[in-house]
Amino acid sequence: MTGRWQELGRAWHETNVVHCSVCGKLIPRRAWIFADEAVEIQACGPDCQQLYETYWRPTYGAMRPPEGTHGGAGATRSADAGTPGHKAEVD
Ligand SMILES: [Zn+2]
Repeated sequence: MTGRWQELGRAWHETNVVHCSVCGKLIPRRAWIFADEAVEIQACGPDCQQLYETYWRPTYGAMRPPEGTHGGAGATRSADAGTPGHKAEVD
């Protein structure tokens, strides 16, 4: 997986603020763009891409494309069996 730097023009800042899709930090000037399958992901840098590949993706699953989301509030997604973030560790 490789990525590329993309300068964020002023238009980006005027309309919306760009945050890293992995760590959530504000991306001030240029974003690191990399692709996971068909999804383009904006991150702060290669470090976050690595974080995505090693931690984020295995933990939460592949990132979904931002577009095509219907902004329905509280859309009920039926509870799938096997929630990823389930903590049931007993020492
Ligand atoms: Zn980041």
